[in-house]
Amino acid sequence: METMQATIKKEISLEGIGLHTGHPSKLTFRPSPANTGIRFFRVDLPGHPMVPARPDFVITTARGTNLGLGEAKIHTVEHVLSACTGVGIDNIDVLVSAPEPPIMDGSALPFVKAILTAGIERYPDVPKRWLHLPGEVHYQDGKAKYRAFPADNFEIKATLIHEHPLMPEMSLTLTMDREVYLREIAPARTFCFEHEVEFLKSQGLAQGGSLDNAIVIGKDCYHTNEGGLRFPDEFVRHKMLDLIGDLTLIGRPLFKMRVEAECLGHAHNVAFAKLLRDAAAKMRGKKSLEAR
Ligand SMILES: [Zn+2]
Repeated sequence: METMQATIKKEISLEGIGLHTGHPSKLTFRPSPANTGIRFFRVDLPGHPMVPARPDFVITTARGTNLGLGEAKIHTVEHVLSACTGVGIDNIDVLVSAPEPPIMDGSALPFVKAILTAGIERYPDVPKRWLHLPGEVHYQDGKAKYRAFPADNFEIKATLIHEHPLMPEMSLTLTMDREVYLREIAPARTFCFEHEVEFLKSQGLAQGGSLDNAIVIGKDCYHTNEGGLRFPDEFVRHKMLDLIGDLTLIGRPLFKMRVEAECLGHAHNVAFAKLLRDAAAKMRGKKSLEAR
């Protein structure tokens, strides 16, 4: 287990189109100082405004997690954030030339590969600031149920419940480390239901969506590119990928807890991230009072 904070060794860029906006987009990962966390910059806007990847800057969660600060907005940040946590990056600047990072193949794998190609750089004497939970934290809203509690590793159990013949209840439990993330989670692509596509497009969403970057679940078959599904349960794996991305907003590595989530969605993920952040902050406050 790495104990020191990490960034990347050098800049690296990827290009593609945004999933929802359909805009061409260039994303550049840039090394950043210790304790700065993950920051997005809109380099196409005057002054290159910055938006921190923190829960308080989430402006909307319609089919993605969207950050904003003043005029600067960055849509669909979750796959980039997930990749950072998956490979153990604590601090990184993410420069984007459009309102949305490129969706690439709909998974986190292209971002993971870029980070690993650039190389991981450790600050020799700046320890990671782990998220420590005081005890169990619960969240429930309608069918969505989440809980987290202290554990020895970073364990996740995700359960998907949809009323669709091609989407039976799927559940997956993993103990996450870099290798497991790379192999089991990073390649899982985003998906939607065929009956939603027209509606999404009419709402100005999924403008860049295609079988190059998403799986479309039809009435009686999956529509994918020629490779087919990457895992029989790719859907629950992608939900786990999104959850890791949204929990990255807490701004602390997620090691030493078990998270269980059912009927996951971005709004719930972000609400849960805030609960975890507040529970951990409360405990730190209590400890520092006791130390006085
Ligand atoms: Zn996603």
